[in-house]
Amino acid sequence: MIKQKRQSNLRIIPLGGLGEVGRNMMLLDYQGRILIIDVGFRMPEEDMPGVDFIIPNIEYLKGKEKNVLGAVFTHGHYDHIGAVPYLIEKIWHRNLPFFASPLTRGIILKRQDDFPQQPKLNINLVKDGSKIKLGPFFVEFFRQNHNIPDNLGLFIETPIGNILHTSDFKFDQNPVNDLPTNFQKLNEIGKRKILLLLSDSTGAEEEGHSLSEKEISKNLEEIFKYAPGRIIAATFASLINRIQQIITLSEKYGRKVCLEGYSMKTNVGISKTLGYIKAKRDTFIKGKEVNNYPDSKITILGTGAQGEAEAVLMRIATREHPFIKIKKGDTVIFSSSVIPGNERTVQIMKDEILRQGARVFHYKMMDIHAGGHAKKEELKEMIEIMKPKFFLPIHGQYSMLVSHAELAKEMGWPEKNVIVAENGDIINLTQNRIFIEKEKVPSNYVMIDGLGIGDVGEVVLRDRQMLAKDGMFVIVVRKTGKVKGSPDIISRGFVYLRESKELLRDTRKRVIGIIEKATGAGGAVNWSYIKDEIRNKIGQFLFSRTERRPMILPVVIEV
Ligand SMILES: [Zn+2]
Repeated sequence: MIKQKRQSNLRIIPLGGLGEVGRNMMLLDYQGRILIIDVGFRMPEEDMPGVDFIIPNIEYLKGKEKNVLGAVFTHGHYDHIGAVPYLIEKIWHRNLPFFASPLTRGIILKRQDDFPQQPKLNINLVKDGSKIKLGPFFVEFFRQNHNIPDNLGLFIETPIGNILHTSDFKFDQNPVNDLPTNFQKLNEIGKRKILLLLSDSTGAEEEGHSLSEKEISKNLEEIFKYAPGRIIAATFASLINRIQQIITLSEKYGRKVCLEGYSMKTNVGISKTLGYIKAKRDTFIKGKEVNNYPDSKITILGTGAQGEAEAVLMRIATREHPFIKIKKGDTVIFSSSVIPGNERTVQIMKDEILRQGARVFHYKMMDIHAGGHAKKEELKEMIEIMKPKFFLPIHGQYSMLVSHAELAKEMGWPEKNVIVAENGDIINLTQNRIFIEKEKVPSNYVMIDGLGIGDVGEVVLRDRQMLAKDGMFVIVVRKTGKVKGSPDIISRGFVYLRESKELLRDTRKRVIGIIEKATGAGGAVNWSYIKDEIRNKIGQFLFSRTERRPMILPVVIEV
């Protein structure tokens, strides 16, 4: 047998999730054959008006579609699966195989219902212990605890060596509705010579050990025990374990549960059908039945602990919810940690709910959210168990990746074996070396706004930010050559025109000056030059008077 000549390196390319929380997507590229791990999205930042989601940039895959072997999904959180409907058509070929656990698959497919024009996905079921071969990659899935059931870590055999991808994880000896962490299995995998460990960094800045789901249940129960009126619990629709705890506690304290919010209803529906959420038959009631029971027998379970504008809790806080109004005696629980960037919105919402007379419990005040992510002590344990030659922290803001890398170095891993990489880096792995290549792949934000995918680019976003900051100023010039009475000025969000007569008069004077100067010489009039002049000169003038920079739109009309 002729020994196949080995290419000596594997390229690992994070397209999202490294340097941010969310939008997880990673490529393993061996000799141009590519395996995709997760296809997630993230929420926009506060200064991105109108943007719904941000998805990974997959320009790198352009022209390489045929070389994509398949995609494996670790778990059903949207930051790992959410971009599927936006990206699938771009990489689609002959039944491109997907691999996911039953719950993850259920959530991906349910979401596809909203995108009926798309090709039908071919999602193969995998579970703890499943092994698949995709080109040069052998993937073995193993169970990992998190805050959603059916979460799978990946042991990947490649021609270069073995790679371990932890998925999001925490070690939990007392989970809810799930099996405890299987240390025996992890130890067994750790003996297989791990060349590279890719480990979840979300909790890497936090000391100690994450709370067990059972502890969280205990803390939640304290709230249930003494809540005098309705309990309104807000969480992520994908925190299936938390949802289960709230349902179980409601049953224990004789409360009916009303699910509110589309994603909450669908996720609970899927999880119930697949057996991941257990509830008595008569536990759930419809929204309009809420008033048929005493307040002390009602739990309302909805979305919106992140302050999402359209979610249930925000609509309750702003008194826009059709039938749920906060009243004295209500207890509101925010049971999810706040994603960086959402803190202010959540704070404002919390204040508003308190003003309306409810009591508020937040994860910061009482540990009712375990985060679902391993903290320092567990992260060390994972490194210890896997004893990888090389270490690459994944999933997290840059500071979290650095903190995780520091842990490995403190444990004795040599500096050159620990890599902190970001989205778009190409990490080159050989049996003896790991390094970041000079070349980068595109990884900038692709923004989703309504039906548009990627059409809101940096220019549109900058315009929106400018409009949001200092408003707009429209100058309408008629092409008659006569400037008497002209130009018309319209402005929004800049100054109140009626009280700025002097500013308007001076602006008009200047516009007329610019036009007269440009048209006075006779010959052809260059109107695009005039527009530029107006934009620049009037921009400077308005700034000198107001220190504001509205967007200036010169409009030339034929009369
Ligand atoms: Zn997750």
